[in-house]
Amino acid sequence: MKNLLGGKGANLAEMNLIGVPVPPGFTITTEVCTIFNEKGQKAVTDLILNDVQKSVAHIEKLTGTQFGSKENPCLVSVRSGARASMPGMMDTILNLGINDDAVEGIAKKTNNPRFAWDSYRRFVQMYGDVVLGLKPHSKEDIDPFEEIIEQIKEERGIKQDTEFTVADLQSLVTKFKDAVLQKTGKKFPTDPWEQLWGAIFAVFDSWMNERAIIYRKLNNIPAEWGTAVNVQAMVFGNMGNNSATGVAFTRDASTGENIFNGEYLINAQGEDVVAGIRTPQEITLEGSRRWAKLQGVSEETRAAKYPSLEETMPEAYAQLMEIQHKLENHNRDMQDLEFTIQNGKLWLLQTRNGKRTGAAMVKMAVDMLNENFIDEKTALLRIEPNKLDELLHPVFDPEALHSATVIAKGLPASPGAATGQIVFFADEANKFERSVLVRIETSPEDLEGMVLAQGILTARGGMTSHAAVVARGMGKCCVSGAGSLRIDYKARTVETSGKVFSEGDWISLNGSTGEVFEGKVKTKEASIDKDFAKIMELSDKYTRMYVRTNADTPKDARIARNFGAKGIGLCRTEHMFFEGERIKAMREMILASDSEGRKKALKKLLPYQRNDFEGILEAMAGFGVTIRLLDPPLHEFVPHQQATQKELAEEMGISLEQIKIKVAELEEFNPMLGHRGCRLGISYPEITEMQSRAIIEAALNLKAKGIDARPEIMVPLVGTVAELKHQKDIILATAEKVFAERGTRIDFLVGTMIEVPRAALTAEGIAKEADFFSFGTNDLTQMTMGFSRDDAGKFLPTYLEQGILKQDPFQVLDQHGVGLLIDLAVTKGRSTKPNLKVGICGEHGGEPSSVEFCNRVGLDYVSCSPFRVPIARLAAAQANLKKN
Ligand code: ADP
Ligand code: MG
Ligand code: MG
Repeated sequence: MKNLLGGKGANLAEMNLIGVPVPPGFTITTEVCTIFNEKGQKAVTDLILNDVQKSVAHIEKLTGTQFGSKENPCLVSVRSGARASMPGMMDTILNLGINDDAVEGIAKKTNNPRFAWDSYRRFVQMYGDVVLGLKPHSKEDIDPFEEIIEQIKEERGIKQDTEFTVADLQSLVTKFKDAVLQKTGKKFPTDPWEQLWGAIFAVFDSWMNERAIIYRKLNNIPAEWGTAVNVQAMVFGNMGNNSATGVAFTRDASTGENIFNGEYLINAQGEDVVAGIRTPQEITLEGSRRWAKLQGVSEETRAAKYPSLEETMPEAYAQLMEIQHKLENHNRDMQDLEFTIQNGKLWLLQTRNGKRTGAAMVKMAVDMLNENFIDEKTALLRIEPNKLDELLHPVFDPEALHSATVIAKGLPASPGAATGQIVFFADEANKFERSVLVRIETSPEDLEGMVLAQGILTARGGMTSHAAVVARGMGKCCVSGAGSLRIDYKARTVETSGKVFSEGDWISLNGSTGEVFEGKVKTKEASIDKDFAKIMELSDKYTRMYVRTNADTPKDARIARNFGAKGIGLCRTEHMFFEGERIKAMREMILASDSEGRKKALKKLLPYQRNDFEGILEAMAGFGVTIRLLDPPLHEFVPHQQATQKELAEEMGISLEQIKIKVAELEEFNPMLGHRGCRLGISYPEITEMQSRAIIEAALNLKAKGIDARPEIMVPLVGTVAELKHQKDIILATAEKVFAERGTRIDFLVGTMIEVPRAALTAEGIAKEADFFSFGTNDLTQMTMGFSRDDAGKFLPTYLEQGILKQDPFQVLDQHGVGLLIDLAVTKGRSTKPNLKVGICGEHGGEPSSVEFCNRVGLDYVSCSPFRVPIARLAAAQANLKKN
């Protein structure tokens, strides 16, 4: 149902079915949007004209009103609703059907001219912005309607929208319409049907607007899905002081606690709560008190000026409580609700599974499991693997917090710690490496900048403001509604606590407490809590694959092991040649003119390598550690600048000229396809010999200490079985020599990386010489696609923009092409050796959709960077659950 009706439409229909009060309406399906995009307006009108007329008649019947009537007009909202919820992405129009006649009718019927004219001016404004395109396109421009509003407020010396008189509102409508005529050259449409069709097509159009496209890209939503259009009878939260509108969550979207919460505004309509225009009030008394405390508002002032809905409208509140339980029960998940109270009567306008932070996601899933609300599999499948990332990130160091100066306080809108330099405009978020976006309020236009910024700080708006909702969805730290901030966009300054901060100044945000600090505040590693541990335990219960890590140091190996890694899938050895004295010996080896000279230099490197391997094997004791032999081309190890070359020449007692000649010799036209990988070990067998010796000796040293070391030696960049055989012979011979010297043995494996397409194509032969395969999908992708990762930046963005590639193949495994090679190699390899151990060690090993692929083709494990281990564990379990 969701695919056709969109999320909003489907949920409205569902609420209606289970007896929740919803204003009558109808939904135009997403299929119509697709037809609109392909064939245009005329085709759509021909197709649905009849149905739309009939459906409007149905609304008229249920509400006892008439569309276009003077005395008893029917007003509707036109709302977009895609399959996946896209908050704030698409534009909604309220009060449609109103015009100069209808406004009088409504005024008379309700005996409330103020309300009638307020609705009218809102409609002209929204319709003008959304359908007629008067919304400003650049940040310097202001909305022409807002300008008029400000002008009248100034003339009349008032501050709030609620202070407008009927005469003010009437003059607003006239001025708004004049502005429309002036800007578009056309009169504002007075015919309700013309308004309705204009709005329907505007919704379809907005599917292709820039911010919707950005959101889809960020969330991998295909453009083909389209949006539905919901047309629904209006209910009014702005009919006076017995009316209100609000937003609520059945649980805390920020922490996950099982506490009903939300915000509302009396005598307001639609988006007023979310837009951060007026400071909304809390729904529950408990929430209201908590809010007051955070804001430093006394209980007396709170009760008088910012009372909760529980206090102001106890009956509607009780009913809302009942409905929120019902909806959470029905949907078996935390709900994000929109409601309106019209003259004391409660109506629900939307429900959906609420967005939440990573922490809340984990807590809610485990809580609901404990409440027997959902089962283990559902709990697991409900966690978005990538969002676990937020829980693994640093928090502020409590010590550092002690001495940090608080310069402002707002609402803890989205948890986490952020430190960065101030920027005031979203499109300037990339001005600094780490920026914090500081705004009076944010809007959907700011999306891209919010992605780039470390954190978001707003002066206005509550927990359900745009900034808060979007930040939580992104897992980005956000403090909203920090009322003490005086932001001056022109001067690019913000004043608070008697200090002025300018663009580029450092500040820090604590999204979990709402505090804003001056300068940089030190952060510390996050720790894993018990709900998180429960999810990991369930992951292990339901997974088939296990997870290793890519780690080059004992420290990384330990971090990964704490996150549940069972072994190392890739230990690169090249960095071990750079530190301190080592690089000298390495360069000496490279500059040597014969094998004897190289051996002498390698002897100096041996103890360093052995030591490193001992550390890593010890950190991963009991689990396999795949160590890759030297891989990068040698020119990466020699100096390329005159000054360093000179230094080296002096150190080595040779001429600068000699060094220059050697460096020139090592230069390659295409190093990616050059003298690297096993080709090095074949040209210089003594390198392979030294590395094998270091690995075996390290393992034996550990064995002597009673530590269970399990080395797996991996030969890189193999394309033919003869290459592997060549290297394997050296490794085995060296091992035997060391065993003889020490008089003791140890088990170890020899295998290869599959990263050259030829190796995949001939895997049945390669498997004869290999104990294991590890797919190096970075190189395999480069070589299969035929473009280098280092140069792809020049054209990949264009490819992605134009849809030539759907995703960056270096981030998300290209399952159709590269994946085919993997699948083939696994099958061929196992046809030779049924028990061949197979894993993946490219960047893709921690990317959920790629992990799912690995599970499907039967890999034994995936390997990824330490901080992605929990993500991969969960993704592996989910892949297995989805497969079965
Ligand atoms: P969004 O997807 O941006 O939340 P919505 O379609 O939900 O957009 O509408 C925006 C606002 O207008 C919401 O606050 C919603 O509750 C309100 N609204 C929509 N339709 C109606 C209606 N028929 N009567 C009263 N308010 C409505
Ligand atoms: Mg909504
Ligand atoms: Mg490689």
